[in-house]
Amino acid sequence: MISFNISPYVGKENEYIEEVIKKRKICGDGEFTKKCNEWLEEKTKTAKALLTTSCTHATEMAALLSDIKPGDEVIMPSYTFVSTADAFVLRGAKAVFVDIRPDTMNIDEKLIEEAVTDKTKAIVPVHYAGVACEMDTITDIAKRYNLKVIEDAAQGVMSEYKGKALGAIGDYGCYSFHETKNYSMGEGGAILIKNPEDIERAEIIREKGTNRSKFYRGQIDKYTWVDAGSSYLPSELNAAYLYAQLEEAEKIYDDRMNSWNRYYEMLKDLEQQEKIVLPTIPKECKHNAHMFYIKVKDLEERTELINFLKDNGISSVFHYIPLHSAPAGKEYGRFYGEDKFTTKESERLIRLPMYYGLGNNAEYVAEKVKAYFER
Ligand SMILES: *Cc1c(COP(=O)(O)O)cnc(C)c1O
Repeated sequence: MISFNISPYVGKENEYIEEVIKKRKICGDGEFTKKCNEWLEEKTKTAKALLTTSCTHATEMAALLSDIKPGDEVIMPSYTFVSTADAFVLRGAKAVFVDIRPDTMNIDEKLIEEAVTDKTKAIVPVHYAGVACEMDTITDIAKRYNLKVIEDAAQGVMSEYKGKALGAIGDYGCYSFHETKNYSMGEGGAILIKNPEDIERAEIIREKGTNRSKFYRGQIDKYTWVDAGSSYLPSELNAAYLYAQLEEAEKIYDDRMNSWNRYYEMLKDLEQQEKIVLPTIPKECKHNAHMFYIKVKDLEERTELINFLKDNGISSVFHYIPLHSAPAGKEYGRFYGEDKFTTKESERLIRLPMYYGLGNNAEYVAEKVKAYFER
């Protein structure tokens, strides 16, 4: 069976974890966490990066930093993972869902401005499949209406928009290092902070509302409770695992990109024959081969293809029941305008196996997809 996903492993993870164990220093914010933070800051050119326990938690931190309050509205796509909405709903805000563009499956930037009300506090673009949203338009709207931009860049590590790292364009950017993502620490994530004046509060929120980070740096002689916060810092064991992969980030990137390109080349014909639709990468975007998806005619054809692939030893998946159709989405959100593409396009989409080391399996999978349409 060809798995849909295998979590990345590059070889030094064991050695680094052992180092942590030998030092008996396994709590958060040790040497490996610092190395990961610095790597992320260097790579994304952002003022501060802080590892977190997940992307969900990074987004919760961003909601706290943005002072989201009950009754506020936050604009986001409905075609996304639940965490995008959860972080704001937990603060009492309403999720306002906007339709997606069918080419990238990202929020349609042209519909955002109409959805802004006097309660709107933030826009949360989700960079689906590591392909950037139209960030110039989004940051322009945010500036004019004084809104925060919180990028859900869970899938966007190593991706760029007009030469800028995803996650480093808005006020806050949220990365995921979950097992299913390009770089992994099991469960984990990071928050990127653009404005230096936000750093101190972010450190406080992440450390249970205390100024412990300042204390460790010797800037104060005792630490105390100064704000509302939580425990958002991961263990050194996880950070050590991740650091091994960040060191090999380019190698993982190249390997995935090769598989992605192989799929694309082999499936181009089917697109020309109008049997499937392949992903669109706008020219201002550099993606990271997080995902290879195709779109088929409809839900029925998708179910058939998934079963056909399964019979051929291939595991393929779909995802995201649009949030506005989910029970919690109905309670905590509303869809602005017409659902032209969100539901329809989500039902057509199928994700093919994609992971570091997929290798020749990509060819086999592409051949089987072709075989399905040639039956
Ligand atoms: C994976 C993912 C998340 C959640 O990441 P965790 O690290 O598991 O919390 C959030 N948003 C999107 C778009 C994702 O793909």
